[in-house]
Amino acid sequence: MDKHTSYEQKKHRLQQAAKILFKNKHTRIGLHKNTSNLFRNRHLADQRLDVRAFNQVIHIDRTAMQVEVEAMTTYETLVAETLRYHCLPAVVPELKTITVGGALSGVGIESSSYRYGLVHETVTSMEVLLADGEIVTCTAENAFQDLFFAIPNAYGSLGYVLKLTLKLIPIKPFVQLTHQHFSEQINYFSVLEETCAQQRQQQSDCYIDGVVFSAKQLCLTVAKPVATAPYTSNYRYLHAYYPSIKAKNKDYLSIKDYIWRWDADWFWCSKNFGMQNFLMRLLLGKFIMHSAVYWKLMRFARNNRCIQWLEKKFTVRKETIIQDVEIPIQHAAAFLTFLHNSIGILPIWICPLQAYNPQQHFLLYPLDKNTLYVNFGFWDSRLSQQAAGHYNRLIEEQVNQLQGRKSLYSTVYYTEEAFWQLYDYATYSTLKQKYDPHQVFDDLYTKVHGHLRGEKS
Ligand SMILES: Cc1cc2nc3c(=O)[nH]c(=O)nc-3n(C[C@H](O)[C@H](O)[C@H](O)COP(=O)(O)OP(=O)(O)OC[C@H]3O[C@@H](n4cnc5c(N)ncnc54)[C@H](O)[C@@H]3O)c2cc1C
Repeated sequence: MDKHTSYEQKKHRLQQAAKILFKNKHTRIGLHKNTSNLFRNRHLADQRLDVRAFNQVIHIDRTAMQVEVEAMTTYETLVAETLRYHCLPAVVPELKTITVGGALSGVGIESSSYRYGLVHETVTSMEVLLADGEIVTCTAENAFQDLFFAIPNAYGSLGYVLKLTLKLIPIKPFVQLTHQHFSEQINYFSVLEETCAQQRQQQSDCYIDGVVFSAKQLCLTVAKPVATAPYTSNYRYLHAYYPSIKAKNKDYLSIKDYIWRWDADWFWCSKNFGMQNFLMRLLLGKFIMHSAVYWKLMRFARNNRCIQWLEKKFTVRKETIIQDVEIPIQHAAAFLTFLHNSIGILPIWICPLQAYNPQQHFLLYPLDKNTLYVNFGFWDSRLSQQAAGHYNRLIEEQVNQLQGRKSLYSTVYYTEEAFWQLYDYATYSTLKQKYDPHQVFDDLYTKVHGHLRGEKS
């Protein structure tokens, strides 16, 4: 059976299941899928739609430079397919387990985002399962354009994407990495801005990101696609990628290794699993160093009562701080100073982004069209004698003060009122009323705030 037919059959079966749930007035419906990169606990769905089979790449069109793909396909699967055609999605999030549907609804980002914007800006069409079981095709021009522009940052609260068409870009087999080193954050952000402007102007397909190792050690990496390489490094096993940024000025990777450079060590979070110990890497690296395995280990630890009890009994009080926030470039230095002074987590991942198409307005994640933003990613915990959530709340306040925006994949502490002021209640509620008037899917605030009510699944 060809992949189009197979998709149509799966879609039909899912639609029947969704219609029955709707007819029987079920609410709190969620997805049953194999992977997740939500850091907060998933909200407790009363009924789950089994979408696990929607994991196929349907068609790659090398002439139109686009790919039709089922929404629960992981980027690992998608990249493996597109590489065979010498191309890649214009934006590929760093972790292999992120799915295309998750990245679209959860505003995925990567080092090509300074040029192509966030993942959702690379999508040209999507098929969405609505609350009543109807399935609609949305594009930027058709009758469902409001939904097309509202799915990003809706986290499945307006409908679930089943299939999408994504923009592809041609690639070269290798990248040449140049790591620039800075000791002042002001210089750092001005060079970052300049570099992004230059590369955008040249319409280059370079990749740009950076890492802050300390207030006096900041690195900026530009990865330039090249046809040949004198050598290639390997950060999949015995050596981690991030120390090489500090240690080297130049490096070469195959394009595939570049795309997944952060996966093997989950950026640097593999240290929490002992995987930055050479012996552990040597013995267990081949089995453990993959974001899918880290997630499994983390979920096991989080749900295991014995581990929880031991942690409470024998460890000091800590607050987990796992966040990605976007700050306009003119306030980036101020935000970094705040992180150093008030939060104290290191390293910090830096990824520039800018809206790709100034004509398009994404309703639930609007960005100033003329502004370069800096994504700060910081994922760790810190000792705390403060009330639970103290440091995460400080971050939320600071992001607002600096006209930034916070991704919602992790813990959210805003009150409902504050949240809706920031995330445009008027627009959201109009769309919710239109596409899910019976609240079959939880609304956005309920989804992102559920972790504070201790909900799990
Ligand atoms: C430690 C950490 C680091 C991260 N780093 C990055 C990063 O570097 N770059 C990056 O881009 N992102 C990053 N993320 C965020 C990640 O991209 C988002 O959380 C994304 O939504 C995860 O996609 P997923 O496929 O795992 O979806 P899930 O975790 O399964 O779902 C995420 C949300 O999207 C909704 N959803 C899932 N599939 C669909 C669908 N088909 N249609 C509609 N809604 C759907 C779900 O209901 C849920 O609310 C990071 C997350 C973590 C925890």
